[in-house]
Amino acid sequence: MPLDMAASIRSGDLKGASKLGLSDCVGCGACSYICPSSIPLTHLFNYAKGELILQDKARQKMEATKLLAQRREQRMEREARDREALMAARRAAAAEKKAQQAEQDAAKQEASA
Ligand code: SF4
Repeated sequence: MPLDMAASIRSGDLKGASKLGLSDCVGCGACSYICPSSIPLTHLFNYAKGELILQDKARQKMEATKLLAQRREQRMEREARDREALMAARRAAAAEKKAQQAEQDAAKQEASA
């Protein structure tokens, strides 16, 4: 099994090595010690574990960034909606005030005539 994991790592298939049990390796070094070809298996496993951790962190960071971007977009849309609603309320209030003013002016003209 260590040799299969090493072959996967050497071919760049870190996920394949992980499926073969890379995460179960405690790094005891026994496989490197008994390897008749002196393949630095433990070094390969440590490298692969580090790479997998880095890839996982990068993926988590990318997901967090994506989530932040989505939340920012939602906030911007909500703020635009709120701003539009506020402007509509102000326009309605101004129109009502103008109508009241016109009524008062008309009443004054009637009273003075
Ligand atoms: S380093 Fe130890 S635990 Fe890891 S694969 Fe080799 S023998 Fe197994």
